[in-house]
Amino acid sequence: MARVVICGAGIAGISTAFHLTRLGITDVVVADPRAPLTLTSDKSTECYRNWWPNEPMIRLMRRSIELLDGYARESGNAFGLNRRGYLYLTANDATLQSMVTQARAASRAGAGPLRTHTERTERYVAAGSEWFANAPEGADLFLDAGSLRRHFPFLSDRVVGGLHARTAGWLSAQQLGMWLLEQATAAGASLIRAEVVAVEHSGDRIAAVGFNDGSRIETTTFVNAAGPHLRRVGALVGLDLPVASEVHAKTAIRDHLGRFPREAPMVIWNDPQQLGWTSVEAQYLRDAGRRDLLDILPPGCHGRPEGGLESPWALGLWEYRTKVREPTWPIPTDPLYAEVVLRGLARIIPALESYSEALPETVVDAGYYTKTKENRPLAGQAGPEGSYVCGALSGFGIMAACAVGELVALGIAGARLPRWSRWFELRRYDDPKYVASLAEMPDSGQL
Ligand SMILES: Cc1cc2nc3c(=O)[nH]c(=O)nc-3n(C[C@H](O)[C@H](O)[C@H](O)COP(=O)(O)OP(=O)(O)OC[C@H]3O[C@@H](n4cnc5c(N)ncnc54)[C@H](O)[C@@H]3O)c2cc1C
Repeated sequence: MARVVICGAGIAGISTAFHLTRLGITDVVVADPRAPLTLTSDKSTECYRNWWPNEPMIRLMRRSIELLDGYARESGNAFGLNRRGYLYLTANDATLQSMVTQARAASRAGAGPLRTHTERTERYVAAGSEWFANAPEGADLFLDAGSLRRHFPFLSDRVVGGLHARTAGWLSAQQLGMWLLEQATAAGASLIRAEVVAVEHSGDRIAAVGFNDGSRIETTTFVNAAGPHLRRVGALVGLDLPVASEVHAKTAIRDHLGRFPREAPMVIWNDPQQLGWTSVEAQYLRDAGRRDLLDILPPGCHGRPEGGLESPWALGLWEYRTKVREPTWPIPTDPLYAEVVLRGLARIIPALESYSEALPETVVDAGYYTKTKENRPLAGQAGPEGSYVCGALSGFGIMAACAVGELVALGIAGARLPRWSRWFELRRYDDPKYVASLAEMPDSGQL
């Protein structure tokens, strides 16, 4: 017998367990056949930001970051939270103009004040490299290359402007997850190595959860936090959850020549780009059936330094071809992924061109972004009484985990939910106006 059974020990399930124990509900079992945080939650770039293009996501991330800041203070920053920001860049005047429009909209929607800089203004406050306190809020908008490159001299001279979102940075997802799990288990929650294979209902209420070893636990509350298996586990309570999964890869790059500035923020190239292959390379790609890499590739190449100031590692990501598929493992990745990403990053930081002759050591891994159509999570009651979902965390699950876990825990505890929680409940799709608005929803802001 347990008060709550949570399916999944990724960051979503662990955060839910943690927040339940903080609310005094300690008879909690988290079930997962895998070691905690090892399916998707350890594949992340571990970045966070409150800078989103719509109010629901801004509200959610503001709350999550508020919680992260509090837990960082409480734990002596056990998970290395920094606030270096996200630096969005463009080499295109028209893109800069649309970045200005979007930045004003995000600022109005609650992401914080917008400070504009040109060659003549000098009010920019640089980020500290390792700590999160006292950083400016909102964003700094650079309207010319001079002001931008004065603060970020490593950037390409193609850049015409950019936006530095400040309530943003990165952390160690593994250490955050383990800290939350340790706190939860110290308060009474337990972790079992088992796969959830059945959820029993009595009438329209959760009654018990069954596991692959034939055992079962009686409970009145079940939380589906199954990450990429959200839909499959949703079917166990009779739900057809509206999610799909996309493959997203990431490469770690051993920057042995020290070309990626160690104090850099996360850098993001907002323009499409065509990579500069030599004629021999281009012929090789044609012969290998990889003409796609000769085309113009989409915007969004991004990267950041990884580890402390002495570490030689950097991370790079670029979803130059999105693949939606049923989640299965191993996840196929492009054998040229690391090279393509490194070339893309060299467009932002030209010093990385030093690797054009000889690729450094790289490690590629991948996971799924499990997403709703409008790229907002599912967090709250769903299905029979006592059934909850905490997932569809797409490419923002680390940054959103504290807030979504808290929302689900508040719902289970019968506590008052914030008004904005309705944007993340499954029943939002029962509202025909909401469903009609999905077709009009602009860019979700996902990297
Ligand atoms: C390349 C990449 C980069 C990313 N970058 C970022 C980033 O910078 N910032 C950010 O915030 N997010 C990022 N993300 C997203 C983030 O990693 C995910 O949103 C998050 O990890 C999802 O957590 P989860 O707990 O929902 O899922 P998971 O971590 O996948 O956990 C789900 C768990 O459920 C278990 N499970 C499934 N079915 C069952 C069952 N039947 N019984 C028991 N257990 C079950 C699984 O074994 C798994 O352990 C990135 C993701 C990828 C792939």
